[in-house]
Amino acid sequence: MSKIKIQSLTGMHDILPEDQVYFKKVKKSVENIANYYGFGRIDTPVLEYAEVFIKGTGSATDIVEKEMYTLRTKGGDLVALRPEFTPGFARSYIEHGMYNLPQPVKLWTLGPCFRHERPQAGRYRQFLQFEVDALGDKSPSIDSQIIQMTYDILKDLSFKNITIEINSIGDQECKPYFRKILTNYFRSRKSSLCSDCQRRLRENPLRILDCKEEKCQRVKAGAPQVIDHLCESCHAHFKQVLEFLDELELSYALNPYLVRGLDYYTKTVFEIVQKSDEGSIQGALVGGGRFDGLVKILGGRDTPACGAAGGINRIVNLMKAREVKRSSAGRKKQNEPNIFLAQLGQMAKRKSLKLFEEFRDAKIPIAESFSKDSLKTQLKTADKMGIRWVLIFGQKEALEDFII
Ligand code: AMP
Repeated sequence: MSKIKIQSLTGMHDILPEDQVYFKKVKKSVENIANYYGFGRIDTPVLEYAEVFIKGTGSATDIVEKEMYTLRTKGGDLVALRPEFTPGFARSYIEHGMYNLPQPVKLWTLGPCFRHERPQAGRYRQFLQFEVDALGDKSPSIDSQIIQMTYDILKDLSFKNITIEINSIGDQECKPYFRKILTNYFRSRKSSLCSDCQRRLRENPLRILDCKEEKCQRVKAGAPQVIDHLCESCHAHFKQVLEFLDELELSYALNPYLVRGLDYYTKTVFEIVQKSDEGSIQGALVGGGRFDGLVKILGGRDTPACGAAGGINRIVNLMKAREVKRSSAGRKKQNEPNIFLAQLGQMAKRKSLKLFEEFRDAKIPIAESFSKDSLKTQLKTADKMGIRWVLIFGQKEALEDFII
């Protein structure tokens, strides 16, 4: 028999007990802020028909073309592990007739997403994302609210040096026109582009602006900027988003080359990054924007929408790096025990199990090590757990019904 590889899959990681505290903190923060802003929790399935992403995210995107985990079920359906949440939200909005509800419909969630990416810092094949989307509203105030919410989450988690980068990429009216201008520009410099971008030139020229290759960056530096080619309505929308951000005193940086790789984005796109002295080490913490066309692409009504997704693993990596655990999360939390129940002898052990249940009923956290017989070992365990108080329950105590 061949040996089983005792190793998790590349890009997929265990979250061990000692790291749970960070994840819990991020999840709590997302939940509190999403609730405060009136977003309702939704949970969509991890598996969807692949078509939802092929049509929704876009067949020429890296996510769909290179990174999506697809499989054929025994029944013959082509399904995919969700690489992101947004198309699933749009599918659910259509399926449950949410257009009949008061608009916008504000939804949030968090859970695992899957992309078969090249492993590198901050890029995993299974990662946790949170998502906030408002569907059914075209007002620029929604864009700024989504930006503010996600910024608030990072602030709540004590992030400093975070920057909002923002751009507008136009809509169905002006985006195709800009695409043409951009294609012409890059076509005349095709030989200076990396091989991936030469392919992108045919399929998705906007993606060239996203390329991190140095040779492409040089070409990009002289490329036309979408902001100069917005139609009147996109221009007005963008101006208002920025005015709202000013009003909210959220500082942002205009990034004329921020396009975000997905087909469905229209108008506003933004990312939140943490800048260190060496720049952003592992990419954006949050990314999002408007996706006015998505619901219609998937077969629903014309539904303007805006949203964002945050990478919980990346956020946790940075929190760990600065040991948030020690400062705020590190204090003994309410449900962490301050008392240890040590037992000695068979009868005391039996009664201790019952006693433990009584503590649980009374909601008093208590630690134990019932598998151990020696008092010395149990005291050592209590010490390692940083617990100051020990209840000792021995043979005599068990007989006479008291405890030390
Ligand atoms: P995206 O849907 O690509 O805009 O991603 C939104 C956020 O999810 C990003 O800003 C990252 O923080 C996070 N993210 C995306 N892909 C990955 C990945 N492969 N591993 C870890 N986090 C990711």
